[in-house]
Parts: sequence; C-alpha cells; structure tokens
Amino acid sequence: MRPDGVVDVDEPLAVGVPPAPHDASGERVPTRDLAGLAPPARPARRWTPRRVVATPAALDQPHGARIAARVEALGLEVERLRGNRLTGVRGETERETYARAKGTLAIVVSPPSRRRLQPIAPSADWRVDLAEGCPAHCQYCYLAGSLTGPPVTRVYADLDDILAGLADYLGRGTVTSRKRERAGEGTTFEASCYTDPLALEHLTGSWRRAVEHFGGWDAPVQLRWTTKYADVGTFVGLPHAGRTRVRFSVNCRPVAERFEGGTAPVPDRLAALRRLALAGYPVGLTVAPIMPLPGWREHYGELLDAVSAAVTGVPALDLTAELITHRFTPGSKEVLLGWYPRTRLEMDEAARSRKHGRFGAVKYVYPREVMSELRTWFTAALAERVPGCRVLYWT
Ligand code: SF4
Repeated sequence: MRPDGVVDVDEPLAVGVPPAPHDASGERVPTRDLAGLAPPARPARRWTPRRVVATPAALDQPHGARIAARVEALGLEVERLRGNRLTGVRGETERETYARAKGTLAIVVSPPSRRRLQPIAPSADWRVDLAEGCPAHCQYCYLAGSLTGPPVTRVYADLDDILAGLADYLGRGTVTSRKRERAGEGTTFEASCYTDPLALEHLTGSWRRAVEHFGGWDAPVQLRWTTKYADVGTFVGLPHAGRTRVRFSVNCRPVAERFEGGTAPVPDRLAALRRLALAGYPVGLTVAPIMPLPGWREHYGELLDAVSAAVTGVPALDLTAELITHRFTPGSKEVLLGWYPRTRLEMDEAARSRKHGRFGAVKYVYPREVMSELRTWFTAALAERVPGCRVLYWT
C-alpha cells in the first residue's frame, strides 16, 4: 500500500512462502457444546462487508456483474471505482487500518501472476485462486505472513476464464498425481490457499460455479477447499460428480474459542460436513493449527469424538484428514502482533525449533519430541475414534 493510503486493488497481496492450505465481525464466537451436533437451528452467520468496491474491468466481466448484482440484491451499495485505486483504507493506527480493510470487499480481475498456477504441496497439484483475503479474525491467520498491504478481501470477477484455464494443467500435477497413495484423486486443484470460500460464497457464488465446472469436467480431476464456515445449503444437490472434496478446518475447543474470531462454531462446521457427506461429496478434516495446550489429549479427544458422531451412519463415507501443527515465521509474528496486540497465542522462538521452508524462509515449529508425541497420538486416536478416515499428511 502507498503511504497515502491508496491501494492497487488489482495487485495481488504480496506473497512470501505459500501458507498451508486451510489450511466477521471480530467479536468472539462461543463454540457450542461439541456434542450438540444437530444441524444449526439458526441461520448461518454471514459476513456483511461494510464497504464494497468494484473496478471497471471487473464489472466488464460477466461474473463481476453477477457478483455486483448479488451484493446489491442483499441491500449493499457497490462503489464503482473510476480506476484500480482504492482510497480510504488507511486509518490513524494499524488496528484501524486493519479494521477498515477487513470490512472491505473489492471485486477485481485477478492479476496475471495468479493465472499461472503453482504447485501447492502437500495438499494438491495446483493452487487456483478465486479470491484473496478473508473476513474472519483468526489470531494465527495463515495469511498474515503473506500480506504487505491492508487485508482487503478481493474476489475475482474473471472466474469463467480462470476455470476455463484449468484444462491446461490436467495430468501435469507434481504433488498428488505423483504419489501412488493419492493417485486416485487425479489432478487436484486447491481453491482455498488465500481465502475462506464459504465466508464469501453468499456474496460471490464463485465456488458453487466451480463445483459445477468440475462436476461437468469428465476427467480425473478434483477441486478441493477448506473452510471454517458452515454455510453449505447452496451446495447440497449440486451436480458435483464426486469431483469436489470439501474439508472443514476444525480445532479443539480452547483453540477455536480463543483464536478463531468471526468463524462458524466448530459443531456447525461438523454438522455442515455431515450434510455434504450425505449429499455424496468426498469430505475432509483439516485439523489445524494443532497446539499442545495443557490437556491437549483430552481436548483433541473430545474433538475427534465429535467428528465420529458427525459421520456416524453416512453411507459410502469418503473422509480424509490433514494434520497441520502450528508454526510461525518472523514476518507472520510481526503482522499478527500488529493485528492482535493482546493475543495469547504462543509465538516464543525459544520454545520452538527453527527450520527453513522450501523457499529458504525461516519458520518456527514445535521441537522434534513434541511433534513426535503429537503425531503418534493423532495417528492412534484417529484410527481408534474415526477408523474410516484416511490421513493424507502430517506437517
Ligand atoms: Fe485466516 Fe481464519 Fe480466514 Fe483462515 S479463516 S484465512 S485462518 S482469518
């Protein structure tokens, strides 16, 4: 962002090391009793942006016009920008800038760099972005180390071109396609690396169209995304052909309650997982970020029991798990402490092992013995409590 507070809304958020896939109003959402797994009796909690802007190029795109119409039908005004500059995002303080940006939705055309897909190990062959940014307020947010400007949520208007371009990547995967144990998934496309799809679907309709695209793509392909929301009603009954795997990012009660502001309660996410599984979707768990808090065995045991209850009786269940421990980088720590200065999130370098990521960046992970203890426990606990669940990876 420029010092005068002007943001290029068509520029991508600057990205460092790709975060793990995952893995809004800001107030804390209490997590209901994990045993209460009946589908939510109340309507899904939906994000209402305080400000919506659209670039001229975005409104020229059919999907951009669809998003604008959808947003206006919800009673929100769409500010039509003269160019690709967005002003008025910067506040007096970093917190204020954060709050303004988090309340803003920008309808833009995806930058060319986003249209050249990158591998996204260990989740999928390719990363495909339909949006960038997220309205939730997780204090460990994976996006924190990847942003250089205010965290405005950008949704891409050129969806039709993005989806049409995926055919070029068929059979060219470097991650799942090369692993014998995951070969059955075909060429995989991860669509939640820099956003949370279900946080935005009611405003964009983008992921629904993506599911239909993959449903009609008669080839060994899979669309994947993970979410901390539960608004799945519009996905039930879609012709998905089993080519979309929706994973729900879940955590134990203390982590979800303390650190995942603005997201759906975990029991609602599990009820949503059940709904999609009953609708024939392959589903999954993204257990992330795993933290060895006091009493972690008991807390994660309670979570896995709730998962077990949520999938009981689902015919032909296809359930996977991706297990991701908490980590941070010097950059993400600095950003997160700016956003959440009073956070109780442990980010103590002295208590961690220092590692280098694939791109040479430093990251801090739990020490080897802690990792080993966690991994051994999760492997055994999942096998015992959710025996039909396939673990895709641990990291
Ligand atoms: Fe970040 Fe939470 Fe949104 Fe995921 S759901 S992108 S962790 S704020």
